[in-house]
Amino acid sequence: MSSPILKVSNLTKHFATGMFGKQTVVHAVEDVSFQINRGETFALVGESGCGKTTLTKLILALETPTSGSIVFDDIELVGASRADLARYRRAAQAVFQDPYSSLNPRLRVKGIISEPLQAQGYGDRAARMDRVREVLKIVGLPASAADLYPHEFSGGQRQRIAIARALAPQPPFMVLDEPISALDVSIRAQILNLLTDIQKEFGLTYLIVAHDLALVEQFSTNVGVMYLGNLVELGPVEKVFSERSHPYTQALLASVPNPDPDMRNPADMIRGEVGSPVNPPSGCKFHPRCPFKMDICTTEFPPRYQLDGKHWSACYLHKDDRATAAALEKETA
Ligand code: SF4
Repeated sequence: MSSPILKVSNLTKHFATGMFGKQTVVHAVEDVSFQINRGETFALVGESGCGKTTLTKLILALETPTSGSIVFDDIELVGASRADLARYRRAAQAVFQDPYSSLNPRLRVKGIISEPLQAQGYGDRAARMDRVREVLKIVGLPASAADLYPHEFSGGQRQRIAIARALAPQPPFMVLDEPISALDVSIRAQILNLLTDIQKEFGLTYLIVAHDLALVEQFSTNVGVMYLGNLVELGPVEKVFSERSHPYTQALLASVPNPDPDMRNPADMIRGEVGSPVNPPSGCKFHPRCPFKMDICTTEFPPRYQLDGKHWSACYLHKDDRATAAALEKETA
């Protein structure tokens, strides 16, 4: 059984905002817990504003949580020393959505890729240049690319450069933030294949943030579904996608065209807008939009109901399932 490389526990991030003395609190991430095992790809999905970006920034130690814990290997990131944070930053690299803005236009490719190596004290100049050529080869670019500027490449080639930069310090963990959504459809598969190949070759663990659910289904091991700052369903991707246990997961997956005409279209069931993280609904935050809402949903925040193995859903619809399972267990004991 593989061990966790990242463990997030009860993570919460609130932002205070406001003008003219009127303070409001944005509940960006609320009590989020999950873990990522070595070598797996964990996907975070949800609509814009669901808290994925803030959660990713917390995991990359670019934001400080209000409460909770993030443990990477043996490093507790919350309150970590400078030395531990530096160690973590070597181990955790990121590839962002837009390769046009994530690469410094004033640096040649060799400067872009060797910059983090230099900051981390990697060898001398010759050793860094060797590593630049090595990672360019891994991502399918010629050594001559090292002397060019980002504007001399296509979008797909730029994303290869961004992947080379992330790969250069030999990290065990990468955050992929919408890694193909800014690219031409024709080259998305190539970049995905590259990410798959390097994961296998170097034993990488990925956290991917994506709104393309077809990509998530194809590329991920486990998936967490976020709604208004909370994880509402989590489990192996095939379970979450086939069982669609939480009504919000059903609605979200309805955005993926389904060739089966008998498949219910939950987009027809969902109503209203995403709630506000400044003043989130009481109880289950999805209740104003949920067609299955019960009285308890408006007042009590639903706990996680374990469905099977590592698959759970935070929805009162599963309360009876669990009760039935418990009763059956008693009967057959
Ligand atoms: Fe709907 Fe209630 Fe489940 Fe929330 S807890 S998703 S309101 S049924």
